[in-house]
Amino acid sequence: MCDFLMASYKQLPVAFESGAGAWLTDQGGARYLDAVSGIAVCGLGHAHPALKQAISSQAGQLLHTSNLYRIPLQEQLAARLVALAGMDRAFFCNSGAEANEAAIKIARLHARNKNVREPVIIVAEGSFHGRTLATLSATGNAKIQAGFEPLVPGFLQVPYNNTAAIGEALVNSRDVVAVMLEPIQGEGGIIIPDEGYLGGVRQLCTAHGALLILDEIQTGLCRTGRWFACQHEGVSPDVMTLAKALGNGVPIGACLARGEAAGLIQPGSHGSTFGGNPLASRAALAVLEVMEAQHLDKRAEQLGRSMLEGFQAGLGDVAGVVSVRGRGLMLGIQLDRDCGDLVNMALAERVLINVTADRVVRLLPPLIISDDEAGQIVATVCRIVRKFLQGDS
Ligand code: PLP
Repeated sequence: MCDFLMASYKQLPVAFESGAGAWLTDQGGARYLDAVSGIAVCGLGHAHPALKQAISSQAGQLLHTSNLYRIPLQEQLAARLVALAGMDRAFFCNSGAEANEAAIKIARLHARNKNVREPVIIVAEGSFHGRTLATLSATGNAKIQAGFEPLVPGFLQVPYNNTAAIGEALVNSRDVVAVMLEPIQGEGGIIIPDEGYLGGVRQLCTAHGALLILDEIQTGLCRTGRWFACQHEGVSPDVMTLAKALGNGVPIGACLARGEAAGLIQPGSHGSTFGGNPLASRAALAVLEVMEAQHLDKRAEQLGRSMLEGFQAGLGDVAGVVSVRGRGLMLGIQLDRDCGDLVNMALAERVLINVTADRVVRLLPPLIISDDEAGQIVATVCRIVRKFLQGDS
């Protein structure tokens, strides 16, 4: 514990000094296999040569100018991203919460256009959208909201994976101007909705003139085996938010929009000092280039499938394992009890894992891991989960 830091985080007793690929090295020289990627950030792993080259050359050229001036790298990044996502325009910021703030502001501007004075955005129980006041108000988790009341008004929570609940809310109130969802809930415990859910919500939004906002901050950028998780269902949102993997560790977020939603932000209505600065834009362009060149969407799909099969074979019928699930390299193993201790057990075996929603082991390895490294993660996690359940039951 450091006395000079606010106590925001419960941290593990380890500090890393360097990284390479899927491996991190601590201050004592011990190496750890990373199955967390800085919470879905380092898709290209650590110290990727293309990113190192891009960032260092940009640092020697120009870091920041502000959005008072045109930023050609930001313009290139916007063009690339909207093409990949099937959107029209981008706004850049510095984090996921900020990307969602932009999306929420777009929904409020959409409400103005519709003459709705007290707009409502439908959100899902179990969701996570960030820690700013508006995004924690949008988050479907009372623990995240506790202590920060009064919350920002205008969010209505409905059960996730339930199209009828959204349909009902849209029919009952003409104040609903948007629906905001994660295509797969990440912090909520790798909750994958049924096939047809996102498509059903898309149809409802279109029929009622509500914007569909998809938070792809954790699921986006090849993580689930597609560039964006909504592409598994061929669903196109009106607004999509990104952050995390976009800069592979260089902070950058993006709010993409299409159609009417893409034209709502006008000069003076939103902004960011750092958003999309030359350094962050150059880093993100390098990330996208590597993802495209190495077809990391396909790689995540293939590797994710084999890891899932490995977990199903190793844990599928172990008592205490409720479910093994995942899409691409976003994998979850749900136990029947709280299992935060597994993180320390894995650390002792020099593997980094995460536990979310108390009972779900969450694995988000770098997209560039080898078959062998993926196999090591599966073997270690299966072993420690079995040991944990035996010791604990
Ligand atoms: N939305 C989702 C789905 C997330 O998983 C996260 C972070 O975990 C956020 C938003 C918030 O992103 P940030 O921590 O960059 O503000």
